Amino acid sequence: MTVTETPATPAATSDEQRVDDLVDDLLAEFPPRETPVVQFLGAQFDRGLAWVHFDEGHGGLGLSPKLQTAINEKVFAAGAPNAASRNPIGYGMCGPTVKVWGSDEQKARYLRPLFTGEEIWCQLFSEPGAGSDFAGLSARGVRDGDEWIVNGQKVWTTLAHLSKWGLLVVRTDPEAVKHAGLTAFVVDMEAPGVEIRPLRQMTGEAEFNEVYFTETRIPAAELLGQPGDGWRVSLTTLMNERVSIGGAIPKKGSGSIAVLTKVWSELPAGSKDAATRDEVMKLWARAEVLRLTNIRANQNRKLGDPGPEGSIGKMASADLNKDVLAKVVDLLGADGMLYGSYEMIRPQTAMDSDTLQKAFLRSRANSIEGGTTEVMKNILGERVLGLPGDVRVDREMPWSQVPRN
Ligand SMILES: Cc1cc2nc3c(=O)[nH]c(=O)nc-3n(C[C@H](O)[C@H](O)[C@H](O)COP(=O)(O)OP(=O)(O)OC[C@H]3O[C@@H](n4cnc5c(N)ncnc54)[C@H](O)[C@@H]3O)c2cc1C
Repeated sequence: MTVTETPATPAATSDEQRVDDLVDDLLAEFPPRETPVVQFLGAQFDRGLAWVHFDEGHGGLGLSPKLQTAINEKVFAAGAPNAASRNPIGYGMCGPTVKVWGSDEQKARYLRPLFTGEEIWCQLFSEPGAGSDFAGLSARGVRDGDEWIVNGQKVWTTLAHLSKWGLLVVRTDPEAVKHAGLTAFVVDMEAPGVEIRPLRQMTGEAEFNEVYFTETRIPAAELLGQPGDGWRVSLTTLMNERVSIGGAIPKKGSGSIAVLTKVWSELPAGSKDAATRDEVMKLWARAEVLRLTNIRANQNRKLGDPGPEGSIGKMASADLNKDVLAKVVDLLGADGMLYGSYEMIRPQTAMDSDTLQKAFLRSRANSIEGGTTEVMKNILGERVLGLPGDVRVDREMPWSQVPRN
């Protein structure tokens, strides 16, 4: 069934009804529990139900992103696979960046297999000397005819070991000021000159990596935007990253706070003192305040272009998740200190924790990944509250003249 064939009954004229009909049609033709995962997600994409605010033909219907929530609720309730958890960096950040900056050819080539999870994506922004100050990065790209040659090192690259494609930002004009000399590419992670090395975390796992580029050649057609657009391309990615990490609107009392209330309710009656109940209750109230704040921020995001509001959810969810999981292992008592194994494994997904102890250890990264809490506070202070800016001595200087160690 194509979009234009949707019956023109009065009820079907509303966007909600149109989307609802398409979801019903999808679930009827491809019952999720009986359909192979890739086939189901491909059919979801083809009906414009992948990212409903994307253009028709590219996984969307050109409608309000608010409608995606209803789609997700309905397909997940029917047992559908979750594209975001299969390809978290791809779905939450790289897809939306390709939508805004990619050519028609790139959108046609990349978005469908990204959504189905046949091709995993990673984000190659951070470098050893450029994390929070990512615009100061040093990896170089030099044009050579129809190609660009890239040399340099990236770090903390989540899921690079599983990725087919990377969203890469490099410096192509060292004589421009730092934000202006950057260019973004789609890079083939299997291309000659790309080396991926594991980086081990305190959970014992190596979910992220160092990535080295040595004389790696990227076709000029794989630019996202134009040379020099890299900073603006990155802002699209980063704003989506913050929403993707912290902007979810879970059901009341769900997520990690549900874990805490479960652990609390299962404690022996004698261990439930009033002071601890008070602490659990305060965390529950913080989770609810964050949920309501995200609902409000979501209203401001109607056009699918998250602004600095995304930083509020990102910052608050990081601190909350850390505090909640710390309380969970507290309540577990001595069991909270038991950890299965520190054997190094290469996870097949990101941010999955099979034990509460691992979830606690993994949560320590929440206030670093996707931009640190301190940097989120700077953004909120400057762009939302209008406070005086951070000191930036290198803003007007060509990057090549900025002192570096
Ligand atoms: C689990 C995890 C996954 C990640 N995945 C990816 C990925 O897939 N791709 C990718 O590109 N990157 C990834 N990152 C990197 C992440 O974006 C950076 O770690 C983060 O931006 C911070 O950079 P940094 O580690 O270089 O710390 P730095 O920037 O060196 O910061 C060090 C400390 O200084 C503080 N600080 C720095 N500047 C300021 C300032 N102006 N004002 C106040 N305080 C400041 C910071 O808050 C921090 O406490 C990941 C990180 C983690 C932990």
